Amino acid sequence: MTDVTKCPICGGELIEKKVDKLLRGGNNTAIVQVNALVCQECGEKLYLPETIELFDQIQEKLEAQDLADYTLIGNFYQVA
Ligand SMILES: [Zn+2]
Repeated sequence: MTDVTKCPICGGELIEKKVDKLLRGGNNTAIVQVNALVCQECGEKLYLPETIELFDQIQEKLEAQDLADYTLIGNFYQVA
């Protein structure tokens, strides 16, 4: 990814925005607010490499049930 000013999907303009990202690990889910480049045209989101690394770390913690740093904000339900 060398050109981050244009959307790789549609060529639209990218703007930096705070977005909520849902992450899953094991039976746990976390929401994290990060900066992403969001396409004005199609809504495609691009994340910086360090943000993707953060996602990996969070997912590992979720899988390991290492949740002491996180705040419980509610339960997740599956609708069958
Ligand atoms: Zn796009």
